[in-house]
Amino acid sequence: MNSRRDVVVIGGGIIGSSIAYRLASEGKSVTVFERDSIGNNASGYALGLLNPTNETGNIESLNHLSFTMHKEMLGVIQEESGVDAQVLTMPHLELALDESEIPYLKSEVDRINEFSEFKSTWLEPDEIRKIEPRITDELYGGTLVEDIIILDSYKLTLATAQAAESHGVEVVLGEVTGIIYKNGRAVGVNLRDGQIDCDAVVLALGPWSGTSSLWLDIDVPIVPQKGEIIRVEGLNPPLGVHFHGNTLGSSCSVVQKADGATWLAATSKDGTGFDVTPSSEASESLSLRGMRMFPELESHQLLLHTACMRPVTPDGDPILGKVPGKDGVFIATGTGGKGILMGPVIGKAIADLVMNGETDLKIGQFGLARFAAN
Ligand SMILES: Cc1cc2nc3c(=O)[nH]c(=O)nc-3n(C[C@H](O)[C@H](O)[C@H](O)COP(=O)(O)OP(=O)(O)OC[C@H]3O[C@@H](n4cnc5c(N)ncnc54)[C@H](O)[C@@H]3O)c2cc1C
Repeated sequence: MNSRRDVVVIGGGIIGSSIAYRLASEGKSVTVFERDSIGNNASGYALGLLNPTNETGNIESLNHLSFTMHKEMLGVIQEESGVDAQVLTMPHLELALDESEIPYLKSEVDRINEFSEFKSTWLEPDEIRKIEPRITDELYGGTLVEDIIILDSYKLTLATAQAAESHGVEVVLGEVTGIIYKNGRAVGVNLRDGQIDCDAVVLALGPWSGTSSLWLDIDVPIVPQKGEIIRVEGLNPPLGVHFHGNTLGSSCSVVQKADGATWLAATSKDGTGFDVTPSSEASESLSLRGMRMFPELESHQLLLHTACMRPVTPDGDPILGKVPGKDGVFIATGTGGKGILMGPVIGKAIADLVMNGETDLKIGQFGLARFAAN
């Protein structure tokens, strides 16, 4: 391990890997510390959906930009790493499973069509049945969005980390236990067994970001939110659309991925701490929601049941930027259910800040200071 680097990145999920990749591509020497293994937490067990059209609010334009960046970067990252991220492009269909949803979903068509990279249309139930005859009979139509992306989030994280390594990034298995300061400026990090000197530290600890409050003298208000997914035997012929609908009090995706399995995703549960034990309650609920959309899934065997944690903030927006009062320390977390989508844009924004002290990406409102002000 090198004893001195330009930048130390803490956390080898999609966010830390994307930042390291960008920094190294710009010539910085970087070490990523990951105490577990690359992509072994939420970044490796996410659904892998890249769809910026299904969220509005403060973060919408960054999500769209990140989607465009993914399209530009996916080929390069897979080539540089030699890792196939199992990228599929397919339509997204937001189903009206209740008649009351029709007006809202029809209005979504116009909103989505304002984005030049997407084309959206309203489909009546018989039009949906022509595309997918196995869909439920209890259906009131749906909003189709062409060309969203679904990939393997573990392989994407691995590809990003390995592409970063091809640019000189050092990935080290180890836990960071603190930041070393000199005159209010970060000059290194402490490890369980040693230390490393650096000019800048990037915190990308995902749901564990609250730990860094102790290193920063400022509260980092991140909590883990448990999310579970089940994978069942694939349909034959395979589904060619990412289906999503609200049913039984919650939402659910049904999608057949490149691994051949049909994925039913996902639950959201707050207040469970760092518990990632798969629960029978989640498995039953996801099965019922999937069967509501595709009744024949009732006979499909469970292949895998996973649980992991989204890093969430009190206001639902991410935390991105320089840490107030600590020179040379930057933070990127709180990506909730959108971190796989946001990897490229966060990678660029944080790398810009580390290298130039500013970025033209609009992240100003996502600083940690917004919580201190309340
Ligand atoms: C069920 C589910 C489905 C999802 N589906 C999607 C989706 O379809 N599309 C999408 O865009 N997003 C999705 N997400 C969200 C996405 O997975 C997360 O936003 C994203 O993975 C967060 O990435 P991260 O790098 O911040 O965190 P993580 O992946 O949790 O990585 C943080 C890493 O930091 C390491 N670490 C922590 N502390 C230390 C330390 N002191 N020293 C060294 N290492 C440390 C941890 O070991 C961990 O590996 C989903 C999330 C869930 C839970």
